[in-house]
Amino acid sequence: MRSVRILGVRVDDVTMGEALRHAQEMATRGGAHQIVTVNPEFVMRAQSDATFRQVLDEAELSIPDGQGLLWAARVVGSPLRERVAGSDMAPALAALSAQHGYRLYLLGAAPGVAEQAADVLRERYPGVQIVGTYAGSPSPAEEDEIVARIVAARPDLLFVAYGAPAQDLWIHRNQPKMQVPVAMGIGGTLDFVAGVRKRAPVWMRRVGLEWLYRLLQEPSRWRRMLALPRFAVRVAECKFTGGRNAS
Ligand code: UDP
Repeated sequence: MRSVRILGVRVDDVTMGEALRHAQEMATRGGAHQIVTVNPEFVMRAQSDATFRQVLDEAELSIPDGQGLLWAARVVGSPLRERVAGSDMAPALAALSAQHGYRLYLLGAAPGVAEQAADVLRERYPGVQIVGTYAGSPSPAEEDEIVARIVAARPDLLFVAYGAPAQDLWIHRNQPKMQVPVAMGIGGTLDFVAGVRKRAPVWMRRVGLEWLYRLLQEPSRWRRMLALPRFAVRVAECKFTGGRNAS
């Protein structure tokens, strides 16, 4: 698999089809793997957070979740073929669960949301094997209890919706104890699936403006989203200094 480095962070050049096949392989092979959904906010966070950077680096699969990454990869002369959004990949994995019987566990989001999302997925993908839902929290005090729940449910696929970087650090910390074949941080996906939050219309996603929709829906994200212009500036700087850091 070909990868690109954007400001030092590895991103795999996969299409949705390839990412799903890879995840299926992991689910069949067993073991304990992690999928990360990298976007510019992840990349900027990784610049100052060595642990997060290492978690991203060690992931079995790092999908190009943000449109900004496709732009950056082009700028550094190493294009990525397509955007693979975690919010699209997670439901597609639920469809695979229905086809192949993979056991799926939904962790995170506000109380009740994972259950609502499970109902929607059961209706959308009859036969989907949802073996557990739990809100919990990423607080270390709850970790042992949550891990015990997951181990008891024996999932093949685990979605963790605690937001980045908490969800990705949580998975990395706990995978040795859980041994879930495929664990993936999914941000706000359970909110989208449950319908408690709206995702950008398809046309906005196609033209790369999902971030703008998000900002309009949740203006309180503005501070976090300053990572986007900072990311653009850093990538452009790297281009003009010969791409030493960018690729
Ligand atoms: N969340 C949670 N517990 C927390 C923090 C966040 O369950 O302590 C959930 C929140 O309800 C939402 C998701 O994590 O469903 C974060 O979504 P967001 O879109 O903010 O993800 P990000 O963009 O940070 O990856």
